[in-house]
Amino acid sequence: MKTSLFLWICLGALDLCLAIQLSMLRPHLQLHVLDVGQGDAILLTTPDQHHVLVDGGPGQKVLEELGEVLPLGFEEIDLLVLTHPHADHMEGLIPVLQRFKVKAILMTFPEEDGKTYEAFLSGTVGIPIYNAEAEMDFKLGNVVLNVLYPFESISGESLENLNNASPVIRVETERVSVLLTGDAEQEVEAELLAAEIDMHADILKAGHHGSRTSSTLEFLEAVGAELMIISCGVDNDYGHPHKETLQKAEDLGMEVLRTDKDGRISLIFDQASWTRSILAPRLRSFSSKPS
Ligand SMILES: [Zn+2]
Repeated sequence: MKTSLFLWICLGALDLCLAIQLSMLRPHLQLHVLDVGQGDAILLTTPDQHHVLVDGGPGQKVLEELGEVLPLGFEEIDLLVLTHPHADHMEGLIPVLQRFKVKAILMTFPEEDGKTYEAFLSGTVGIPIYNAEAEMDFKLGNVVLNVLYPFESISGESLENLNNASPVIRVETERVSVLLTGDAEQEVEAELLAAEIDMHADILKAGHHGSRTSSTLEFLEAVGAELMIISCGVDNDYGHPHKETLQKAEDLGMEVLRTDKDGRISLIFDQASWTRSILAPRLRSFSSKPS
């Protein structure tokens, strides 16, 4: 064999080997439950670098957090989700809309007055807005965001409890599923159970910051998650997460991670082995049950 051909074959094999290794190293999905205090702000990054931000927490802390988890100089958010117009989910989205190029918004549009909501809406001008309802799905590469609730649009409706305007969204990939419930409370959980919606997910972001008004035992059983993530502030005024929720999680053998104790929770799902690591604030990793 001529030397040049031999070298070409060797380099080709090396390239292939590197490509396989890089594809194995590339995270399958990243889920960052940001450390924004008493509120919710969750960033999903898909393997092909699509970014979805679900809520922005209170104040502007979300900007700092995004600066740490997004690639340097990155300024685009593919989909921004406002679960419901309470300040602990919405306030941080106002500077996000100013700072980032947001390509689309998903929300439920319940009737609500107030200056913060007005400021948020005025920042959305010119951005396509999807009115969330069940069976709507968003495909970002091989990651699908599937809206499970509300069953029909609640746009313009005056709700007694704005928390229940939160869409319930299941993030699905080949290997992992994550259920995001905003601040949806037990009334929404009961509706989902009554309609026999498949809510199974590997990971649950607990509704309403781990409050006892969400996370009924029946709902947690139907979800069957092995990991519950609770987003809440240190020593918050509401006593979140409530001990009843923590007890149910323990009874069901669910591991619990909390932003008030763990800080930002970053889960990196590996393509090959279905493992995940919690990168901050302290390095921890553990294996999941085989999928
Ligand atoms: Zn909230």
